[in-house]
Amino acid sequence: MTQNLVPVLGEVNAFLQKQHGLLIDGKSASTRAGKRIDVRNPATGEVISTVADADAQDVDDVVQASHRAFTSGVWSKARPADRERMLLKLADVLEAHAEELAQLETLNQGKSIHISRAIEVGAAIEYVRYMAGWATKITGETMDVSIPVPEGARYTAYTRREPVGVVAGIVPWNFPLMIAIWKLIPALAAGCTIVLKPSTETPLTALRLGELVLEAGIPAGVVNVLTGRGSVAGQALASHPLVSKISFTGSTEIGKTVGHAAVDNMTRFSLELGGKNPMIIFGDVPVEKAIQGAMMGGFLNQGQVCAAASRLYIHRSKFEQVVEGLAAAADSMTVGAGMDVTAQINPLVSARQQQSVCKYIDIGRQEGATVVAGGYAPDMPGYFVRPTVMINVDHSKTLVREEVFGPVLVAMPFDTPEEAIRLANDTPYGLAASVWTNDLSAVMHVVPEIQAGTVWVNSHIPLDPNMPFGGHKQSGVGREFGRGAVENFTELKSVCIAY
Ligand code: NDP
Repeated sequence: MTQNLVPVLGEVNAFLQKQHGLLIDGKSASTRAGKRIDVRNPATGEVISTVADADAQDVDDVVQASHRAFTSGVWSKARPADRERMLLKLADVLEAHAEELAQLETLNQGKSIHISRAIEVGAAIEYVRYMAGWATKITGETMDVSIPVPEGARYTAYTRREPVGVVAGIVPWNFPLMIAIWKLIPALAAGCTIVLKPSTETPLTALRLGELVLEAGIPAGVVNVLTGRGSVAGQALASHPLVSKISFTGSTEIGKTVGHAAVDNMTRFSLELGGKNPMIIFGDVPVEKAIQGAMMGGFLNQGQVCAAASRLYIHRSKFEQVVEGLAAAADSMTVGAGMDVTAQINPLVSARQQQSVCKYIDIGRQEGATVVAGGYAPDMPGYFVRPTVMINVDHSKTLVREEVFGPVLVAMPFDTPEEAIRLANDTPYGLAASVWTNDLSAVMHVVPEIQAGTVWVNSHIPLDPNMPFGGHKQSGVGREFGRGAVENFTELKSVCIAY
């Protein structure tokens, strides 16, 4: 196995060795109490680095710095063209450090180096370039108004969009760099300053991103990076009165906590939360195509994808063939470290996540489901779980209702499009879904009925910066991407001029 490992770059090793502080005002700062958090390599369980563990007072320091930077106008009042230019420069800087960032992510998060290179870094850089352009395209409207007093007065009105202020970007561990960038760039394009709070499990690329932001010429203090536990540092950040907007991605449970804290201060917020996403495969889909789609939709990033396909509804005419092929394909996947270029299934992010996924598999068994592939953690170091396919699942049971966030697919047969729609919507979540068929009328019938923020047809998972992304129901509030992403970081002001 070792001969397939990507050699670790010298700069990656050097970064791991650093005594990482918080990034405040462009400098690495120690916390008051000096506590540290271990950062592990999920492929081995070994500690590879440590980061600062901020408490509420440290959080206040970080937010105050962001607030000073915002009110100074160094960024919020910079010419939009200058903001755009510096964000484009940041894309170039990220590109120059692409392999370093990809390796750092794989060593810390566990995912395949191929995914780190292509998505975590590659797609994120495209997102930076896309979003940079919006800095110069923020507009308001002019309005005719009919205000009748005083008699004879005339008015005109217009709206302007102004940066909302200090943003808290709270980022999960599944795509740490990419999701940090999803929050960072539209906030900066709008003229905001930001505190990035990565997950305790995966803080390294956010810290490196903070350094590269400075290298791109973005002024110190505009981007600050806060490491620390969610229950302490995250909570203090979400409830800080100087934070004007929270952009959160993570679990529905914590999302609600963050939403409550935000409302107490009337802080604006958007929440991108969990999903239990259906994939509906009609009878006309070739078996091989259905299997490939399910593998991609269900096992990418070990299923640790909020939009992952985790519930497969397969037309009864193809059910057995697809399940059989899927089980064989899952069983043939080679398990190994993300740095191993031949490994097809990599570790989950943490021992905690591995235990959680295994617990769900056990609950599924206890509730009567049948495991047809995988279903266990292999006996080896690291946080691996074999790709798992389960059938005979009762729709009311845990495995169908709760987000497992691991490589676990449940497959169920359906007979009619109406039944597929009913089952697909029978969930508290509504993030994403996919419909697989070349029957145009089935597509046109099913797509509008699906309660989800994104519906793919004949694919599952592709995202694009120009395509709004977010959830219905318990999957969140608001949308990321597209023009709306930048507008989410602005306040709308109406200006009314009497003349
Ligand atoms: P969390 O929702 O706990 O974490 C997401 C982010 O919120 C992390 O940065 C976390 O910090 C932070 N956080 C935690 N508690 C608070 C708080 N009270 N106030 C403010 N911020 C807080 O997700 P987990 O990482 O624990 O994952 C649990 C489950 O969530 C997964 O199994 C999966 O089901 C779901 N999930 C969904 C994701 C999605 O993309 N929709 C992404 C990740 C997880 P810290 O890590 O330091 O605790």
